[in-house]
Amino acid sequence: MNIILFGPPGAGKGTQSQYLVNTHSYNQISTGDLLRDEIKKDTDLGNKILSKIDIGEFVEDEIVNSLIKKVISNKKYNNKLIFDGYPRNISQAKKLDEIMLKNNQTISAIICLDASRDIIEKRILGRVVCVKCNKTLNEYLDIKEIQNHKCGKEYFKKRKDDNSDTIMKRYDTFITETNPLLDYYKKKPCFFKIDATLKINEISAKIEKIVNV
Ligand code: AMP
Repeated sequence: MNIILFGPPGAGKGTQSQYLVNTHSYNQISTGDLLRDEIKKDTDLGNKILSKIDIGEFVEDEIVNSLIKKVISNKKYNNKLIFDGYPRNISQAKKLDEIMLKNNQTISAIICLDASRDIIEKRILGRVVCVKCNKTLNEYLDIKEIQNHKCGKEYFKKRKDDNSDTIMKRYDTFITETNPLLDYYKKKPCFFKIDATLKINEISAKIEKIVNV
């Protein structure tokens, strides 16, 4: 089964993807992570990406689509893909359909994690990511877990684009660019909406039911 996890930044897509990776051996394909990997390479492409991410705008479709194409064509990921943060507009969604078809793959569930603007702001301002293993925690809510983390607490860093101005810009970009996509996906029989303000394990349980159908 291939899944799209859909929702604003900070809704918990990364956390729930990790749940599926750990419990069902899924492969999390986060376009945000793929783009940040390109930035680390310090190439012209990386700098172009950085200039968009830094101001909370979307990176050009062609760049994102070409990164995604490489992943989907890799047979080892077949039927075990979770798209986290992709697609983000209708043009990307159509491209995804096209790439999937070419690779004999289908999307079996589109799961929307739904959360309001003020919840998102609170969540993202405390977000820290382990630079070694990519684990995401919240510095206000997960104090103990950060202290006891296997890689060491010093590896938890804030993402550069997790500051108040950029967060709100990212949320607004999501709403304007991605809402038409939501209307497009809502009509599909495999569309599911989950309240992202529920506890992490409650959301995982709801996702579990969808995955186990
Ligand atoms: P994320 O890690 O999903 O919060 O993404 C961080 C940033 O990467 C976003 O604010 C966008 O600038 C960029 N980005 C991630 N995924 C996409 C995408 N599918 N299309 C365009 N830009 C993206």
